[in-house]
Amino acid sequence: MTSVEKAASRATASPSLIADLQAQVGERNVVWKPEDLLLYEYDGSIDRASPRVVVLPGSAEEAAECVKVANRHDACIVPRGAGTGLSGGAIPLRDSVVIGLARLSRILEVDTKNRVAIVEPGLVNIELSNHVEQFGLYYAPDPSSQKACTIGGNVAENAGGPHCLALGTTTNHVLGVEVVLADGTLLWLGGPERESSGYDLRGAFIGSEGTFGIVTKVAVRLLKIPEKIHTTLAAFTSLDAASQTVSDIIGAGIVPAALEMMDRITIDACEPVYHPGYPEDAEAVLIVELDGLTEAVDEQSEIVDRICNSNGASEIREADDPAKRADLWATRKGAIGAFGTIAPSYYLVDGVVPRTKLQEVMRQVRAVGDELGLTIGNVFHAGDGNLHPCILFNERNRDEVLKVIQAGERILEICVEHGGALSGEHGIGIEKQAYMPLVFTEDDMDAMKGLREAFLNPDHGDSGGDDASATPVSERFNPGKVFPGGASHGEAYGITEHSVRRAGRHDEV
Ligand SMILES: Cc1cc2nc3c(=O)[nH]c(=O)nc-3n(C[C@H](O)[C@H](O)[C@H](O)COP(=O)(O)OP(=O)(O)OC[C@H]3O[C@@H](n4cnc5c(N)ncnc54)[C@H](O)[C@@H]3O)c2cc1C
Repeated sequence: MTSVEKAASRATASPSLIADLQAQVGERNVVWKPEDLLLYEYDGSIDRASPRVVVLPGSAEEAAECVKVANRHDACIVPRGAGTGLSGGAIPLRDSVVIGLARLSRILEVDTKNRVAIVEPGLVNIELSNHVEQFGLYYAPDPSSQKACTIGGNVAENAGGPHCLALGTTTNHVLGVEVVLADGTLLWLGGPERESSGYDLRGAFIGSEGTFGIVTKVAVRLLKIPEKIHTTLAAFTSLDAASQTVSDIIGAGIVPAALEMMDRITIDACEPVYHPGYPEDAEAVLIVELDGLTEAVDEQSEIVDRICNSNGASEIREADDPAKRADLWATRKGAIGAFGTIAPSYYLVDGVVPRTKLQEVMRQVRAVGDELGLTIGNVFHAGDGNLHPCILFNERNRDEVLKVIQAGERILEICVEHGGALSGEHGIGIEKQAYMPLVFTEDDMDAMKGLREAFLNPDHGDSGGDDASATPVSERFNPGKVFPGGASHGEAYGITEHSVRRAGRHDEV
C-alpha cells in the first residue's frame, strides 16, 4: 500500500465525496487525511468534533458548487472562518463537511466617495482598516481577536468589540451580504447601497451563526478616522470604584468610543508579559477612549478625569498620539493570551447585564469562583455591560472541566437573573443552547426555527441532490447549534447536561 492509499483507508469521507469536491476546487484544496483534519476539530471554545472532510473554495461560485456536492452526498455543512469563535460555532458536528473560507480573503472594491468596501468573507478583520487607513477611513467593528478573525465569521456572530460601544456591532456596519443558500443559490441580501427597501433579510442573516447559509461577499460601511482620539487609562484600588466610574461616565452623558475594564487577576496575568507597571494595589484598570472633534474630545476628557479622580483613581495615564495610545491598549488587547501565564486553558463566558448591575454581578461572579475553587479573571466591554469572565483551568483535568461548565452555567443564570442576556457577541453555538429557555419561550424558539426554515427553503434544499433526503433540511447548515438538544456542551470530555447538574447545586434535580 502506498502512503496515499494508507491515508485513504483511514479517511472518514468516501472517495467519491473527496473526488467530487476536488473536481470543483482542485486536489490541493480538499483536506481529507485524518492528521490534517485535526486542525479543524476545534475553535476557541472547549468543544471538539472531527469533520468528514474540509473544502477550501477559491470563489463564491466554487463555494456554491461545494454546497451542491455536499447535498448530493447527503452531508451537512459547517462554514468556517478563522476558528476563533468562543461558543463552538465552527465545530463540525454530525460528521459535517467543513467549507473553509480562508482562501476568499480579498478586498474587492473600495469606494472612498461613498465610504463603502466590498470584501470577501475570509478577510482578516484588521486588514480592512489597515488597507483603508491611506484614505483616512476605517472599519469600526474591532473584536479583540481582530488580528485573526474573519469578516465572514464576524457577520455570522454579529461580532462586537471594544469600539462597538458608541458605534454598534457588525450589523450596524454591514450594508449587504452575498450568500449561498442550501440549494447552492447565490444571491445578495441588501447590497452596497446605503438604503434598501423590502424585508431586511440582511439583518436577519447577520448573527445566524452559519445556520442559514454561507456568506461569500460582504459590503461594509467605512467611517472617517476621527479628528482626535484620546485614550485615558485609570487604575483603581477596588473593582467597585472602577464599576462606579463606568456608571458615572455614562451618567454624565458621555458615550466613549470604548470603555473597557480589567480586574486584578487579569493585571497579574499581563504584568510578566507586557510589563505595564500598573500600581501594585490596582484591583481594576479602566481604559476610556474618546473620539470626535478636538474641542468636544478635550472637554469630555476633562470630565472623565474628574470622574476617575472622584472615584479614587490611584493613577491616570493619557495619550493622544497613535503609538502611545497603542501602548495603553497593548495590555487589554493581549490580555486573553496572557492568561496562559496562569493556567493552560481558559473558558470565556459572554454574558450581558445592565450597566447599573455591574458591581453586584461582578461580586456574584467572584463568589462562583470561590465556591467552585476556580480562578476567574475579568477583562471586558464594561461600557455596554458585556461581561467576559475568563475561567482559568487545565483542559486535561476532566473534573476541572466539569466545574468550569458548571461555573459558566451559573454565571449566565446570574446575568439573566439581573435582567441581562445570554450573549453579548460570541453567539449561542453549542455552548449556550441548553440555556436558551432561560430567556426564550418555546414560541420564541419556534419563531426563530421558522425563520431558519425559510432561509433553508425545504423545497429547494431537498431538490439540491440525487439522494438528499436522509438529512432534514433544517439541519443542512451547521447542525446541532443554537437550539436546545442539538449537542451537549462538554461532550468531548464525556460531560453531559445531566452530569453538570448532578455535580452542581442542582443535586435535587
Ligand atoms: C482572544 C479572543 C478575543 C475575542 N474577542 C472578541 C470580541 O472582542 N468581540 C467579539 O465579538 N468576539 C470576540 N472573539 C470571538 C471571535 O473572534 C468572534 O466570534 C469572530 O467573529 C469569529 O470569527 P472567525 O472568523 O474566527 O469565525 P469562526 O470561529 O470560524 O466561526 C464562527 C461562526 O461563524 C460561522 N461562519 C464563519 N464564517 C462564515 C461564513 N463565511 N458564512 C457563514 N457562516 C460563517 C461558523 O459556522 C461559526 O458558526 C474573540 C475570540 C478570541 C479567541
